[in-house]
This record gives sequence, structure tokens and C-alpha cells, in this order.
Amino acid sequence: MFVDEAKIFVKAGDGGDGAVSFHREKYVAAGGPDGGDGGKGGDIVFQVDDNLSTLVDFRYKRKFSAQKGENGRAGNCYGKSAEDLVIKVPRGTVVRDADTARVIADMSDSEPVVIAHGGKGGKGNAHFATPTRQIPRFAKPGFKGESFNLSLELKLLADVGLVGFPNVGKSTLVSVVSAAKPKIANYHFTTLTPVLGVVKIDEGKSFVMADIPGLIEGASEGVGLGHEFLRHVERCRLIVHVVDVSGVEGRNPVEDFEIINRELSNFSEELSKAPQIVAANKCDMATPEQIAEFKEYIEKLGLEFYEISAATTQGTKELVNAVWEKLSGLPPIKKFEAQPMARIDADALDNSRAFEVTTEEGIYFVEAEWLWDIMRTIDMDDYESLQYFQRVLRNSGIIDKLEQMGINEGDTVSIFGFEFDYVR
Ligand code: GDP
Ligand code: MG
Repeated sequence: MFVDEAKIFVKAGDGGDGAVSFHREKYVAAGGPDGGDGGKGGDIVFQVDDNLSTLVDFRYKRKFSAQKGENGRAGNCYGKSAEDLVIKVPRGTVVRDADTARVIADMSDSEPVVIAHGGKGGKGNAHFATPTRQIPRFAKPGFKGESFNLSLELKLLADVGLVGFPNVGKSTLVSVVSAAKPKIANYHFTTLTPVLGVVKIDEGKSFVMADIPGLIEGASEGVGLGHEFLRHVERCRLIVHVVDVSGVEGRNPVEDFEIINRELSNFSEELSKAPQIVAANKCDMATPEQIAEFKEYIEKLGLEFYEISAATTQGTKELVNAVWEKLSGLPPIKKFEAQPMARIDADALDNSRAFEVTTEEGIYFVEAEWLWDIMRTIDMDDYESLQYFQRVLRNSGIIDKLEQMGINEGDTVSIFGFEFDYVR
């Protein structure tokens, strides 16, 4: 079964908790704190596996969670970090945050990508001894691992995409110019899944051609078959528009050509602007007048025109050579850029967001569930990023609250285990 869409849930491992423990030895009444830190939770990592060609596995398994890091132990022992959970996907899978549509990764390359980060381990009480606080009876819990609802979309990686009505001869063309053997038959919708064929022109000269199931009118609105396959044309560098010029099926080539292009532009503006060349197929069945008429129409539009017969291979060599020439001047296969997490608008924050401030041994602890999403996007070494964070704290009312509680210049504020000096 060809499945090219899936929705899954991933949760990276939480960090292990820090330990509360005190050193004990014979004849030593009370040793110092020696609780170790928790280990890091496992990441959710995606990796391309070229043995996979569809997302069908995600029909059956939709939830993935990585393990929690080990808790810290006595004797300053660190908890072990959990192993990453590696999820294999077919090449060309675009990973999005399903809740925001943000692109997290485009799995086109072979390098593994961390999709959800495991939480850091909490600090053990050994960290919290100070001259004035010699018996810290607390440690920090581990940080939460990130979790996401993900939408996965397979967008095949091909240089050239064939588009056209069903039965115009797309699969036949792929079968004669490459080693791929898509199903060919004289009825509509024989091609139910996209097929990739490698077209070899010469030593070291080759490109990938995708046979895309036929498009029919209304395809971009989801009528009939074809719409769901348009996503596989999205990355293509060049579209070869295959048209049956013979009219053996009782259709008009100009009309067909226009309908398909309308479908492409309804699907996406970008697709309608993609470079296109026209292959007029079934020339063996067409009259010279039919071919000349269609050729004139296409060339008036400023498009390159090739007359071929896929069935007899007449003209197919010229076509693939022209495709190769054309490709050399075109940008590489489109990649989807990973997008940064959207930030909340600090200036539009009101004080309706819940938070809690507690104080223990001179440290102010701020707790707010919503703040975690912001914290993890803050780059502590970047001035602008810190300024933004400051505005979040001020506009949400956290700073007012700290001041009400009597915070002084230089006091420590702890947010999710990060410690800041309070400055006015
Ligand atoms: P697709 O639906 O566009 O993939 O079309 P197919 O490749 O499956 O071809 C549909 C029918 O047209 C089949 O019966 C083919 O044998 C036939 N066909 C394909 N190319 C040609 C051609 O150049 N000339 C003729 N006469 N028939 C062709
Ligand atoms: Mg076909």
C-alpha cells in the first residue's frame, strides 16, 4: 500500500531527577550533600532509511516515546542518560509540527535529525550547598522532554515529474527511458502509485523521473484520483507535460493541456510557475496536421515542444537529452527549510497567564508551565534573545510579583533550574 501521509505523536524522554543525599561515614556525624544529577532523557531522532518507500508503518504505530534519564544517586553518582529513540523514515519525508504547521525537518539527506529533545537531568543537592546553606534538603526534578504531534508527508525526490491526463502514455515513457517498469494498460488509473525511474544518458549523466498518477479535472479539489499525488511534483525541478496529441481517446490536446495546467495552479501557485516542457505523445497515431496545430499552440506560449511516440520510442532520446540540457540550468531539487518555533508576542502578553513564585533560602523560584516553551527557545548568550525574555517576564506580571515579594538587586531567580541575578 502506498501511504504518503501520517500523523504521529512523539515524546522525548524526561530528564532524571537529581538526588538528595548526604555523605555518611563511620564516626562522621553529618557529611556534606552528595546527591548526584539525573541523566538526560532520550531524544527522538529521525533517520532516512532507503529500504522504506512509504509511510505505511505509521498506520500501525503512531505513538513513540523515548526513555527517561536515570535518577541521580548518592555518592555524587550521575544518573545514566537514556538512549535516543531512532525512527526510520523514507527519504523525502517532510516533518511538521501538526499543531502549528511549522516545518521541523525535511528528511532528504542522510544525516539523522533530532526532532524532539530529551529533558536535561535535574541537579542533585550537591550543587546547592553554599556557605549559608550547608544542608540543602532539596534537589531538582528532571526537565520535561519535548513532545509534538507530528504530521509526516512524503514528497518524493525527483528531478522531473511527468504530469498529464490518464492514459496519455506517461508510464510507457518512463518504461522506455529508464529501467523502471510501471504498470501500463489501456485503461485509466493504471498507475496508482508514483514510480521513480533513473534515466541514464551517459556515463555520470543521469536524472530521476517520476511517473505520477494521472490528473483529472477537479483533482486539486480532491475530486477523483491525482490530487494526493500532486505533492510529489512539488519538489521537481522540471515538469514534463505529456499530452496525447492523436486524440484517439476523443479528447482535444489543447483542452487537456489547459485543464491540467489549471489543476497545477489550483494546487499551488509555485507549481504553476515551475518550468515545463511539452511532450506530444502518440505521434505514431496522429496526423501531421494534428501535430502541427498543437505545436503552434505550444510554441506561441513560449514553451519547448517535443513530438514523441513512447510506444515506438521515436523522439524519446531527443526528449531526454533536452531534459538533461534544461536541468543543467535549473536550481537543485527543492528542500523545505526547517522553521524556528513561533514565539509568543511578548508585548501583547497580559497578566492572565498563571505562574507561581516561591522563595526558599533566598532564592526566588518561578514556576509557569507556559514559560517552558519560551525558555527553550532562549539563547542565553544572545542579548536580543535575553531582552525578549525580560519583556516576557515583565509583561506577564512576574517581575511585579517578585518586587511585591521584596526581591533585592543581586538576588537569585531560578526558572526551570536556570539561575539569573535580579537586576532592576
Ligand atoms: P498513463 O496512464 O499516462 O501512464 O498511460 P500508459 O503509459 O499506461 O498508456 C496508456 C495506453 O496508451 C497504453 O495502452 C499504451 O500502450 C498506449 N500508448 C502509450 N504510448 C503510446 C504511443 O506513443 N503510441 C500509441 N499508439 N499508444 C501509446
Ligand atoms: Mg500510468
